[in-house]
Amino acid sequence: MTMAIVVQKYGGSSVGNPDKIKAIARRIVATREAGDDVVVVLSAMGDTTDDLIELAHEFTERPDERELDVLLSTGEIVSSTCLAIALRAMGQCAISLNGGQAGIQTDGCHSRAKIISVIPERVLRELENGNIVVVAGFQGIAEDMDVTTLGRGGSDTTAVALAISLGASICHIYTDVNGVYTADPRLITTARKLDEIDYDEMLELATYGARVLHSRAVEIGKCYDMPILVASSFSDARGTLIHGGIKMELRNKVRGIAHDMDVAKVTVRSVPDQPGIACAIFEPLADHGISVDTIVQNISTEGITDLTFTVSRNDLDRAVEIVGPICQSIGAKGHVSSLGLGKVSIVGTGMQNTPGYAARMFKALSDAGVNIELISTSEIRITCIIREEKVKEAVDALHRAFSLGEIDCDN
Ligand code: ADP
Ligand code: ASP
Ligand code: MG
Repeated sequence: MTMAIVVQKYGGSSVGNPDKIKAIARRIVATREAGDDVVVVLSAMGDTTDDLIELAHEFTERPDERELDVLLSTGEIVSSTCLAIALRAMGQCAISLNGGQAGIQTDGCHSRAKIISVIPERVLRELENGNIVVVAGFQGIAEDMDVTTLGRGGSDTTAVALAISLGASICHIYTDVNGVYTADPRLITTARKLDEIDYDEMLELATYGARVLHSRAVEIGKCYDMPILVASSFSDARGTLIHGGIKMELRNKVRGIAHDMDVAKVTVRSVPDQPGIACAIFEPLADHGISVDTIVQNISTEGITDLTFTVSRNDLDRAVEIVGPICQSIGAKGHVSSLGLGKVSIVGTGMQNTPGYAARMFKALSDAGVNIELISTSEIRITCIIREEKVKEAVDALHRAFSLGEIDCDN
C-alpha cells in the first residue's frame, strides 16, 4: 500500500526558538510514526524576516531587490536546517531543502515572485529514501537561477503549491491561533473560531488583511481544489477547514471581518475629465508591479476632477515617484498622499443578492463615531477606508452589529 503524503506548514511564531522547534519536531515524528510520508514547510524563526529587512536598511533606504531576496531567504534556511538537525538528533531520517532544491520555480519579480511551477521530483525522491523532507518556505528560484521570495506570509503559498504538486489530499497550516476566526482574535476577544469557510470568503478575508493565511495560498488552493486546514501548532484543537463545498443558505451571511493597517492614499488633483486619463495613471503603476486597491473618481466640475487611489504603505514612495511626472504630462494640478489610514471589511458569500448590508455597515460605523473616507465593494465584500486609529473600534462595532460572536446567528 502506498503511503499518503502529508504536507504541514509551521509559521514563524511556532518555530520561534530551539524549544519550539523541538516541540514541532516531536509532532512531526508522531505524524511520521502514524505511517504517512511527511513534507514540512517552515517559516523563518520568530521575527527573523523583520530583523533581516531592518539589517538591509542599515545600509540604504532602498536595498537592491535581488540581494534582499537572497538575504531574506536565509531566514527560512536557518529554521529548516535546524528542524532537520533536530529530527536527525531524534533518530529520524530527515533532510532540508531550500526553495530551489524543492523545485519551487517562480517568475523573476523579486520580493513578490509568483510560483510558475513546482517540480516535485527531488522531494519525491527524498520521501522514497525514507526522509522527512523539510522545505524552506517563502522562496523559490527564477529561470536565471536567482533566488526569489514570494511576498510576506508566502510560506503558506509554498505549502499549498507543494501539496498540490505532490498529490496530497489536504494541506495543513499550523499557526499560533486555533484557526480562522470571525475577526482577528488578538484584536477582538469575542471573535469566534469558524469550523469551515469557503475559498471565496477566505480569499477576500486574506486579501483584505486577515493575515492568518497568505491570499495567494487560498487562490491556488481554490484553483486546484486543495482543502486547507488551519490549526494550532501548540494544541490538538480542531481547526478551520477551507474548502469549496459549503451549504450556502445554512449559515450567517456576514462570515467575518478583516482589518488592515497597511493603507496609503494618493490623490491626483484637478485632472481633466477625459478618456485615457485613468489609463495614463494606472498603466505605469501596474507596469511597476504596484497593486492599486480602492479607486475613486469624484464627479467632475467644469471638466476637472480628482482621482484618489490606495496602495500598500511600502509601495507609496514608488507610486508617488511614478505619478509625479504623469501629473505634469496629463495636465493635473498636482498630487497629495497620506499614510495613517486603515481599512475594515465585512465578508460573506450570503451578502450577494441580499440588500441592506452596506447600509447596516455604515450605520454601525457612524454610531461608533467612525468617519468613512473611501468605500469599495465586491459581490461578497464591503470595505471602508478609515483613520488608522479608529480601526479597532470599527472592527469591534461591526463584530457586534452583525452578532458574529454568536453561533449560527442569522445576521
Ligand atoms: P504564522 O507565523 O503562523 O504564519 P501569522 O502571524 O502570519 O502566523 O498569522 C497568524 C495571525 O493572524 C494570528 O496571530 C492573528 O493575530 C492573525 N489574524 C488576523 N485575522 C485573523 C482571523 N480572522 N483569524 C485568525 N487569525 C487572524
Ligand atoms: N518569513 C516570511 C515572512 O515573515 C514568510 C512567512 O512567514 O510566511 O513574511
Ligand atoms: Mg503567516
